[in-house]
Amino acid sequence: MSTASAVRTRFAPSPTGFLHLGGARTALFAWAFARHHGGTFVLRIEDTDLERSTPEAVQAILDSMQWLGMQPDEGPFYQMQRMDRYREVVAQMLEAGTAYYCYSTPEEVEAMREAARARGEKPRYDGTWRPEPGKTLPPVPEGRKPVVRFKSPQEGATGWDDMVKGPISFDNSELDDLVIARPDGTPTYNFCVVVDDWDMRITHVLRGDDHVNNTPRQINILRALGAELPRYGHVPMILGPDGEKLSKRHGAVNVMEYDKQGYLPEAMVNYLARLGWSHGDDELFTREQLVQWFDTRHLSRSASQWDPKKLNWVNAHYIKQADDAWLAERVAPRIAQRGGNPQAADLPAVMGLFKDRAETLEQLAENAMLFCGPHRAAAPELAAQHLTEPARAALADFAQRAARGEWTREALSAHIKAVLAERGMKMPQLAIPLRVAVTGQAQTPAIDAVLALLGRDTVLERLALVQG
Ligand code: GLU
Repeated sequence: MSTASAVRTRFAPSPTGFLHLGGARTALFAWAFARHHGGTFVLRIEDTDLERSTPEAVQAILDSMQWLGMQPDEGPFYQMQRMDRYREVVAQMLEAGTAYYCYSTPEEVEAMREAARARGEKPRYDGTWRPEPGKTLPPVPEGRKPVVRFKSPQEGATGWDDMVKGPISFDNSELDDLVIARPDGTPTYNFCVVVDDWDMRITHVLRGDDHVNNTPRQINILRALGAELPRYGHVPMILGPDGEKLSKRHGAVNVMEYDKQGYLPEAMVNYLARLGWSHGDDELFTREQLVQWFDTRHLSRSASQWDPKKLNWVNAHYIKQADDAWLAERVAPRIAQRGGNPQAADLPAVMGLFKDRAETLEQLAENAMLFCGPHRAAAPELAAQHLTEPARAALADFAQRAARGEWTREALSAHIKAVLAERGMKMPQLAIPLRVAVTGQAQTPAIDAVLALLGRDTVLERLALVQG
């Protein structure tokens, strides 16, 4: 159901490495904008930098987008597969006179720039080969391959109403006649972007604000082609907690690293969206709400700061409200990775026991090892401190009661109370020795729940071990 005015956005990563947080957030905004308007989200891989682009990076980008649930409606398109099309448009522009051959050597162009600098002007190509009415061009040097330059307007200004930053304008006198094709005919970066945005009928370009300077160039080429202009929105970058540009120094910047560390894609999407976009005071929202609420008016004009603590808080929220069985499925492989046996316990119940306090799936897996890993006896000092003579007597009493009857949390709780009553002890005087004896730790979730999940055989075995 595409209409001429239907929204079409794109994400156009250069596959020179993994998908980093900034790229993921840009993609998310473009995705959410398209979804909000019932439009189309296009994925375009800008792989023309042959030295830096790798198939592994392409795969990493696709994996990250899949993990975050941002499937493109069209694409991935690969620029390297569109070379013929770019050449075709270059030829059309030469034909139309909106581009021209330039035979100046790189050294000559450098000298022109130097001369402009010396005059206190912006370094630029001096227009030697730019055709003008009544102007005679120099004779074509023999055997020299030309570049193709865009005949950029020299008067006036080029501006647009940026969806994020508001009105932006550049004097055309500041814009060089951009090279759009190299001597071997290969098209240059800005030119490919323009042809793609045109061919792919992109209506809204949301991208990082490192591209603001490219925009007037792209607009002028689009105009020369008679193309309708997309609207542009330039998103400020993400800074680290120290206010510096976000980098490895601040922790992981690779999106998939967050999967490894046990963050849920739901939490990541929520956190990334909130980083530079707002919906009132809402900090927690579902993917559906994001789509429903997303607008460009509430994209922040200033840089946002990466806050690992807040990400943990958001992740903890999604873990807490997740279904126990759903969590168990995701945590099981992480338990296996630790050498534990996810089948050794009722894993959904184990998740229920720990999920209120876990910040990541990795923490849940670590906690679950209490049930899925080998018994870790208490450290000698801990044992000496808590497994005293009276404590061991109480444990023996408890073991005797627990050997018979039902094995439920309620029954176990009743046994504990009975032992306390009989011996005039307080809860911690039995609960802590029980924890130390059975789990090797002084702190666990509610001990009756822990015992219930561990099972009778395991608990009685471990209690016997500390009776010496
Ligand atoms: N390929 C560019 C980048 O990775 C993005 C180009 C664009 O969005 O126009 O930064």
